[in-house]
Amino acid sequence: MNSSAIEFGFASDLSPDGRFGESWLILADSTLLTLTVDRRPPETSTSARLPWLRRSTNGNGTAHRDPTQAYIQRVVPLSEVETFRIQQLVGASALEAVFKDGRVVELIRYSSSLATLFGQVKLRIEALLKQEEPPPIERKQQVCEHCGRPIPEDSISCPACRSQKQVLMRLLQMVRPYWRYMILGSVLAMLSAAVELAPPYLTKILIDEVLVPRSNAHLFVWLLLGLVGIRLAGTVINIARGRLNAWLGSEISFELRSKLYQHLQWLSLSYFDRRQTGSIMSRVTRDTDALYDFLVNSAPTITLNLLMILGIGTVMMLMDWKLSLLVLVPAPFIVWLSHYAWHKVIRVWRRHWHRWSRLSAHLGGTLSGVREVKAFTQEQREIATFNRRNFEIAETGMIAGKINASVFPLISFLVMSSSFVIWYVGGRGVLEGNFELGKLVAFLSYIGMLFGPLSIITNIMDWASRTVTAAERVFEIFDTEPEVRDNPGAKPLTEVKGEIVLENVSFGYEKHHLVLHDVNIHIRPGEMIGLVGPSGSGKTTLINLICRFYDPTRGRILLDGTDLRDLKMQDLRQHISVVLQDSFLFPGTVRDNIAYARPNATQEEIIAAAKAANAHDFIMRFPDGYDTWVGERGHRLSGGERQRIAIARAILRNPQILILDEATASVDTETERLIQEALERLVQNRTTIAIAHRLSTLRNADRIIVLERGRVVEVGTHDELMEREGTYHRLVTMQMELSKSRLFVG
Ligand code: ADP
Ligand code: MG
Repeated sequence: MNSSAIEFGFASDLSPDGRFGESWLILADSTLLTLTVDRRPPETSTSARLPWLRRSTNGNGTAHRDPTQAYIQRVVPLSEVETFRIQQLVGASALEAVFKDGRVVELIRYSSSLATLFGQVKLRIEALLKQEEPPPIERKQQVCEHCGRPIPEDSISCPACRSQKQVLMRLLQMVRPYWRYMILGSVLAMLSAAVELAPPYLTKILIDEVLVPRSNAHLFVWLLLGLVGIRLAGTVINIARGRLNAWLGSEISFELRSKLYQHLQWLSLSYFDRRQTGSIMSRVTRDTDALYDFLVNSAPTITLNLLMILGIGTVMMLMDWKLSLLVLVPAPFIVWLSHYAWHKVIRVWRRHWHRWSRLSAHLGGTLSGVREVKAFTQEQREIATFNRRNFEIAETGMIAGKINASVFPLISFLVMSSSFVIWYVGGRGVLEGNFELGKLVAFLSYIGMLFGPLSIITNIMDWASRTVTAAERVFEIFDTEPEVRDNPGAKPLTEVKGEIVLENVSFGYEKHHLVLHDVNIHIRPGEMIGLVGPSGSGKTTLINLICRFYDPTRGRILLDGTDLRDLKMQDLRQHISVVLQDSFLFPGTVRDNIAYARPNATQEEIIAAAKAANAHDFIMRFPDGYDTWVGERGHRLSGGERQRIAIARAILRNPQILILDEATASVDTETERLIQEALERLVQNRTTIAIAHRLSTLRNADRIIVLERGRVVEVGTHDELMEREGTYHRLVTMQMELSKSRLFVG
């Protein structure tokens, strides 16, 4: 096929049978093709379930040595297609073509991480079908620009294209502030290596100048004393070195973890929307730990051992350079072997980590949702899922371990083989009388000493690949810029009147899929606005924009006449309090949770806020009063109690703008009355936006705004809107009928 005829090609991360794999949807000559690519190298074909072991394109997207096979799965001429649709499957989706004769054919399957991309692909082929101008495809963050492969959901760059050297260089840069200690560490390492190197040489002198000639008793004592002294010095140096490394490593990883957490706290909500908590957690915990391990254990050990290899080589060369060269015979094989194993192992580690993050996500999800698991008796299924993920981890761990286990003995054997050469050449020399016995012994001990450091080389590979993959993920967090940022020159916000204006605001969590369309709202200072609309109509989204959790895709939002983007975000949020439907309480006491909004609040202020929220009475009924532990997420409290604590928290903040997002949706009528009372006290003199499920609670709102499918359809007072008999009227009558029938049943 002529490649210029290819219009596009998009890679998916699943094979047609739903396993992880590589498939492509290609449009060429007005025909859609689906290809499945099999990159499995033949030598690992026994491990058919391990597709990640493939040796595929390298960093610059060219050579790969394994035979790659592609199979054409489908050929669909556009002219025969009526329309395209997306079928939701479990954990994946499929793009399907509906033919003019009614047949349906699945074109390609993809995991939910690619849903956005294929959503756009569908729009594009539909446009082609209708011969319209195809919309541009935003492939940022989804497909690698370099190799066209899909980028994992929780990454911003393509793991296959990242350079390991770059990552290591950055890691070194990270430790640059500690260069003095690093130099001290290196000096100690050099001393340590020197001390290690001395004994065989002293032994050589001992044999050749004292024991074999049977003379020089004086020297004998000195040599022995020297050996003892050197061992002693070595011990002292090693203690100092170990202590320095432990301090340095802890210091650096402490810094790293706090910087990472700090950066995470500044990232925008959209970052967290796209990721699973467990996966982020494992970056802050496991990955920083891997880096600690590298800095404290691996890096110093590697330095020391490289010095040892150099030192041993030098000493041997000085003793007898011809014999030393013989030792080097197996070296190229060793280098090649390590290189080969490194490439295999680093892929496995990446996979391994990915699986860990999936396990953590599953663990996090099922532990927070443990009630649901039990209520729906899904324990068995969750156990099965967990076991599957757990098994996958064991599998990659095992593969990495097996590679190491096979490579190390081979390297040992290669090193051993050089000692046979020495035995042969040196031993014959001794027999023939032209080689000193002491020298032979010293040579053999040096070779023995090479053994340890060389075995470290295999570990370097293992450590470095772990470290590189961990560092990649940690740096990726650092490289992510908050999407919502203060404009340069953002102004501080001291006094707020509370006038909010939305001008032609459109917004979509994904840019191609708008949730709000052209919203224009003018909220006067101190006004109470009721926001109503069917579920999914964009009410919460609107509030997210006012709090500036996200920025509008188009249009702008003004507070007292200033664009929110020109205000300091922190200041803005200082003046806004939000009470959500399902308020989150932090692990801690009732007092801690109320004071969360203002940690320096006094006891009196906290109690006053609780009283205003109608929470004081029930708090006092708790055995420990304000010191009662709320449990994780506040599970020890009832929904209504949690809600009133959240309201107390909002009151304590004393904001000029108050937002209530279905704050009373999940409580009974009696509690609702108490909350309603508390809220009425709260809304006075503040700009309030209240979303309520029960529309009756919005009766005293100054104006009601009705949203439908992301558009403002009606604005007015309760009476005006009832008179108009539009959407609001319909919603209210529906609810009234519903409550009548409930009364009837109840
Ligand atoms: P409401 O509060 O009126 O019930 P929302 O504003 O929560 O509705 O949601 C409006 C639409 O936006 C829904 O279709 C929902 O699926 C979508 N949506 C909400 N939050 C997100 C998010 N974080 N990422 C992507 N889509 C979202
Ligand atoms: Mg909502």
